[in-house]
Amino acid sequence: MGEVVQGKLRPSSETPMHVYVHKRIPEAKCVVHTHSPMATVFAILEIDTPCLTTEQAHAFEGRVPVVRNYSYPGTTKMDELESIVEALRRSKVALLRKHGVITYGVSYEEALDNAVVVEELAKSAIFALLLGKPEELTEADIEYMREFKKKRYGQRPAKQP
Ligand SMILES: [Zn+2]
Repeated sequence: MGEVVQGKLRPSSETPMHVYVHKRIPEAKCVVHTHSPMATVFAILEIDTPCLTTEQAHAFEGRVPVVRNYSYPGTTKMDELESIVEALRRSKVALLRKHGVITYGVSYEEALDNAVVVEELAKSAIFALLLGKPEELTEADIEYMREFKKKRYGQRPAKQP
């Protein structure tokens, strides 16, 4: 894992981070890293993105956490890489301090979707925080969405009468 299999260009300077996440989280089939601006606002402030919507409870089951350690881009330090994995185990998406977003998915599509959704949720949260004092969903609200996702969400064949 981590070797160039095709092409002549050097891989991303963040390759060690991507490879580490793949190794430590086997279900991570795709890892996406962005500097999407709204989510990065929370990364700059080093605060978790609050869980203000059913959408966030559904997608990430709570807050989007900030990674415990600060790290320079391209880090190969084990404790820093491990702190990224620790955050990703709480939520499939995490905020790299003063840097950006990292997320993974069980597929390429899911990882990309997570990257888009975290940005949209961060945008809503920023506006809500600017205009008022939003309340976070409770743990019971989040649990309800977990069950809803398992039992009632998504496309599936309708029951025949
Ligand atoms: Zn970066």
